[in-house]
Amino acid sequence: VLKLEGIRKSYNDLVVLDNINLDIDEGEFVSIMGPSGSGKTTLLNIMGLLDKPDKGKIIIKNKDVTNIYDDNILSYIRGKEIGFVFQHSYLIPVLTALENVLLPSIFIGSPNKDRAKKLLDLVGLKGYYNHYPNQLSGGQQQRVAIARALMNNPSIILADEPTASLDVKTAKTIVNLFKELNDKGHTIVMVTHDPNIAKYSKRIVVLYGGKILSDNASLEEALKLIEQ
Ligand code: ATP
Repeated sequence: VLKLEGIRKSYNDLVVLDNINLDIDEGEFVSIMGPSGSGKTTLLNIMGLLDKPDKGKIIIKNKDVTNIYDDNILSYIRGKEIGFVFQHSYLIPVLTALENVLLPSIFIGSPNKDRAKKLLDLVGLKGYYNHYPNQLSGGQQQRVAIARALMNNPSIILADEPTASLDVKTAKTIVNLFKELNDKGHTIVMVTHDPNIAKYSKRIVVLYGGKILSDNASLEEALKLIEQ
């Protein structure tokens, strides 16, 4: 469902990603692990078309989407095929939980309040529709962000350290939610440094110095590779 071929990315003289090849099938639940600065966020941003590689191809659902310059098509793919969850939820403070969840559907021209409510119910926030982000806990805000990422029913969900700012118990609730979504058929790619979170995924990709050291490691192997 998502394929990277020969991806290279550098910032000035610094090569951040060096010849990355990665093939992710529909329905996979993948964790990307690696030391700080190994290029995890850059890789996820490139997968989500938030950043452009210097070289290489990005293929989503068998379509080469590397060189789309038309902003409308780009917004459509980003809005429709991909749901992005960031480390900080980035909710709009002046919009309610419900309005935040509705946003992506407004972008693609098909707002659906009932669906937004259902998604808030799904992430355990029934009764919080009209709360503003500052009236919600960090974990609740992250759940709103996940509901928002699901609004346009994307096949692929990309999550960058989605549990990093949460306590252990809340982090587990969030990753369990990802697991449920994966069971329903969504493909999930998640950057995490936390072994307790990575263990929920079915496949671990280890990034080190901008290269993939393993594209299907066990948790033990991944931790060993990162420590070296
Ligand atoms: P962390 O776990 O600390 O978040 P990471 O593995 O996600 O790290 P990236 O955020 O992808 O790593 O960054 C990889 C390298 O690229 C770092 O050395 C970072 O300083 C550099 N970098 C990232 N974005 C930019 C940018 N916009 N301009 C210049 N350098 C950048």
